[in-house]
Amino acid sequence: MDKKRYRRKHRPGTSRRDIRRAEKMLINILAGILVLLTIIFARNILLPLPDEGIIPIENVAAFAISPQTFADLKSLSNRNNVNFVEVLTIFSLSENFFPPGSIMPTKEELENEFFRNYRNIKRSHSQDQINTYKKILGTLLNEIESFPIAQEYMTSGENGYYFSDTFGAARTYGGDRKHEGTDIMDRKNARGRIPVVSMTNGVIRNIGWGELGGYNIGINSASGNYYYYAHFDSFAPGLQQGDTVEPGQLLGFMGDSGYGSEGTRGMFAVHLHVGIKVNSDITENGMFWINPYVFLRNIEGYRD
Ligand SMILES: [Zn+2]
Repeated sequence: MDKKRYRRKHRPGTSRRDIRRAEKMLINILAGILVLLTIIFARNILLPLPDEGIIPIENVAAFAISPQTFADLKSLSNRNNVNFVEVLTIFSLSENFFPPGSIMPTKEELENEFFRNYRNIKRSHSQDQINTYKKILGTLLNEIESFPIAQEYMTSGENGYYFSDTFGAARTYGGDRKHEGTDIMDRKNARGRIPVVSMTNGVIRNIGWGELGGYNIGINSASGNYYYYAHFDSFAPGLQQGDTVEPGQLLGFMGDSGYGSEGTRGMFAVHLHVGIKVNSDITENGMFWINPYVFLRNIEGYRD
């Protein structure tokens, strides 16, 4: 009887010692998991929290990144095989959307400081914030498919145009206000000469006269962004509210209409005013005018 029991006791897998060994192993595994969880938890607490700081809307609107830095970010994104829209977003967030007086880094500085630390810089911003601004910038870059001047006039010669960044410049007609767009000037200052085309796909929401904008057209893209073209000399024949338009489609001819009652012309030099109103809930009323300048330079291909 005793011998039998003794033998049974020592059968593999059933002895008390084996059970104790299994228990120990289980405890060790559980302890290991606990240590791991503690490390993960501590890391999350000790790492700096993502920057949830509020970006001033006037900075976002002015979007004062230089065309050169914009272009550098684009080429370096390609070289480093990272998504350009995300790179532009992270860079803009890191620079607090370029307050007045911001100094733009050289391409070398971008490569050595920004791109080398890209993962850490990205981690310092919340995913929510990244997504919000990535959507704004990505949508604009995606839907602006054409420069608003017909191809054959896209020259730096005397037949062409010129423009600079005048977003936020003072305007006095109709009360003190700030310029909420980019003016593309006719080098010949001749009304009715340069064909103006749509930058995007969209639907014409309004077409007609406005005291400030003269003969103007407002187009809604599918994203809900609003593209405003002002001071036409004349509209493309037959164009009316509700029409759908495509990038590159003729809208009318550049002029100098506005600043008075219907038909007023010649109060300023011949130019196209381009305004872009972004559809985003980062502002209370859900929309804000953004500076079209770098987007125009980008689609133009930095010709000048
Ligand atoms: Zn203007």
